[in-house]
Amino acid sequence: MTLTGNHLIAGHDIEPESHLFRASNPATGAEMEPAYGEADAKLADAALKEADAAFDDLRMATAGTRAAFLESLADEILALGDALLDRAHAETGLPMARLTGERGRTIFQCKTFAALIRDGSWADARIDTAIPDRQPLPKPDVRRVMQPLGPVVVFGASNFPFAIGVVGTDTVCALAAGCPVVVKGHPAHPGTCEMLARAVYAALEKTGLPKGCFSVVNGRGNAIGVELVKHPVTRAVGFTGSLKGGRALFDVACARPEPIPFYGEMGSVNPVFLLPGALKERGQAIAEGYIQSVTLGVGQFCTNPAVVLGLNNPDLQNFLQHAATSAAAVAPQPMLHRGICDAYNAGTAVWKTIKGLESVGESAAPANSDATQAACRIFSTTLDVLEANEELQREVFGPCSIVTRCESLEEMLRFAGSLEGQLTATIHGTAEDLKDYAPLVRALERKAGRIIFNGFPTGIEPCASMHHGGPSPAATHSFFTSIGTASIYRFVRPVCYQGFPDEALPGLLQNQNPGSAFRLVNSELTQADAG
Ligand code: NAP
Repeated sequence: MTLTGNHLIAGHDIEPESHLFRASNPATGAEMEPAYGEADAKLADAALKEADAAFDDLRMATAGTRAAFLESLADEILALGDALLDRAHAETGLPMARLTGERGRTIFQCKTFAALIRDGSWADARIDTAIPDRQPLPKPDVRRVMQPLGPVVVFGASNFPFAIGVVGTDTVCALAAGCPVVVKGHPAHPGTCEMLARAVYAALEKTGLPKGCFSVVNGRGNAIGVELVKHPVTRAVGFTGSLKGGRALFDVACARPEPIPFYGEMGSVNPVFLLPGALKERGQAIAEGYIQSVTLGVGQFCTNPAVVLGLNNPDLQNFLQHAATSAAAVAPQPMLHRGICDAYNAGTAVWKTIKGLESVGESAAPANSDATQAACRIFSTTLDVLEANEELQREVFGPCSIVTRCESLEEMLRFAGSLEGQLTATIHGTAEDLKDYAPLVRALERKAGRIIFNGFPTGIEPCASMHHGGPSPAATHSFFTSIGTASIYRFVRPVCYQGFPDEALPGLLQNQNPGSAFRLVNSELTQADAG
C-alpha cells in the first residue's frame, strides 16, 4: 500500500494544507515518508457531520450486518500482512513479535464484538408486560433496551498502535454498538493509522455500510483534539493516554454547553504488595517475574508495576538482590519516541536526587540515547520517603519501579488507604497471608479497578469479566472498562418504550425472540418469547 499522508474523511482522501510532520524511527531517528498534516476545525466539522449523517444507517443496520463488517475488518487487517507490521515496527520501535501478538489480539477483538452483537444478549433487553386489570392502577407495558449514543471521537495511545489505536477496542466497540467513529490519529505512528483506516473502509465497502461511519484526522497539536471534543454532534469520547492529556480533554467535554461522557483511561502506579509468606516461599521467582513485568514493552504499559511494598526483613532484602540481578541482565531497548524517552530519563534523574531513595539495580549495558534506548532502573526506599515525595507516587512512563520497605502491616494499610485511584493493585501471598492481611484486600477494593493475586498487572485479557479502569485519576468513570466486551456500554444508553405496539418496537424488544437473546421478561432471565 502506498501511503499518502492524507486525512481520511468518510472514505475521501483530503490532502493536508499545512503544518506537515513525519513519523520518525525511534531506533534510528530517521524520518519517514510521507508527510502528514495538521487538521483544522473545518476538517473536524466535515468528519463529524459525515458521522452524524451516517448514524441512522449504521444503527438501523442489522446486528448481522455490523457483525459481518467487524469480521471483514479482521480479515482486512490480516490482509495488510507484513507491511503493517514493518511500518508499525519502524514507527514505534516495538519488536515484531510483540506487534504480531498485538495484531492477533486486535483481530480477536473484532471477532469477539461481532459474536457479542450477533447474540443480542448484551443489549440488556428488559420487558415488563402490561397488566391492564391490576388494582388499584393498571400496569403499562414497559420495555427498555440499549441504543447507540451517536458519533464517538477516539484518541488512541502511542503504546498500542493496533489494539488501543485506530482499530482498537474503542473504535471496534463503538461501531459494534452502532456509533460512527472519528479517530484523532496518533502523531507518533501516522502511517500505521493510515493503513488501518484503509482496512476499515475496505470492510465498510464489502458490507455496504456508509463510509461516513469512519474518519481519521491527523495532527500533532492539541487544537484538533479540542475541536473534535467540542463539536456539537460528538456524543461521547474514548481516550487512552496520559493523565495530563486525558484530564485536559475531560475538562473540555464537561465545559461544553451540553456536556458529554468522556471515557478516559490513563496511567497509574499499580502497587504490588509482597506479603511475608510469599516472599519466604518464592522470593526469587517473584523478583524475576516482577522485573519481566516492569520491562515488558520497555515499561510502556499503563499497568506497569511502578511501586512495590514489602515488610522490611531478610526475605525482602533477598528479593531486592534477585531483582537487581534480573534488572542488570535487561538490555536497554528503544522507547516509542524521543519525547517519551526524554521524559523517562528526566523523571528518573529527579528520583536520583531524592534523599533516602537508593538505586538498587539497573541494566548493566549502557542505554544508547541516540537510539532512544531506556535502561531498566529499580529503586528502594522507606514508606516515609515515598509519602513525603509526591513525585514518587506519579507514573514515570518506562521500565522503572520503586520497592518500598514497610515496618508493619499498619504501614502497608496506611499506604493503601492514601492511594489515588488505580487501574490495578496486586498481592503476592499465601493462603495464610491472605487471612492475616484481609484488611489490605478490603482497602484495595476501594482504590483499584482490578486486583491481581499472585500474578502481575501487565497483560490484560480482553474477556467479558475484564475491568480496565478504576477510580479517578486512573480513569474518568470508574464504572466503565475500556477493554473487554463490557466496554461497549460506554457508547450506549437505555431507551425505555412504554405502550408501543409490538411491531413498532426495536427487534430485541418484540415478543418473538428469534435470536434467543437472553432478556429479562417480567423479572425472569429467559431466552423464551415474551407475551
Ligand atoms: P498522550 O500524550 O496523552 O496522547 C494520547 C492522544 O491524546 C494523542 O493523540 C494526543 O495528541 C492527544 N492529546 C494529549 N493531550 C492532549 C491535549 N491536552 N489536548 C488535545 N489532545 C491531546 O498519551 P500517549 O503518549 O499516547 O501514551 C502514553 C501515556 O498513556 C502514558 O501515561 C500511559 O500510562 C498512558 N496509557 C494508558 C493506557 C490505559 O489503558 N489506561 C494505555 C496505554 C497508555 P497530540 O500528541 O497530538 O497532542
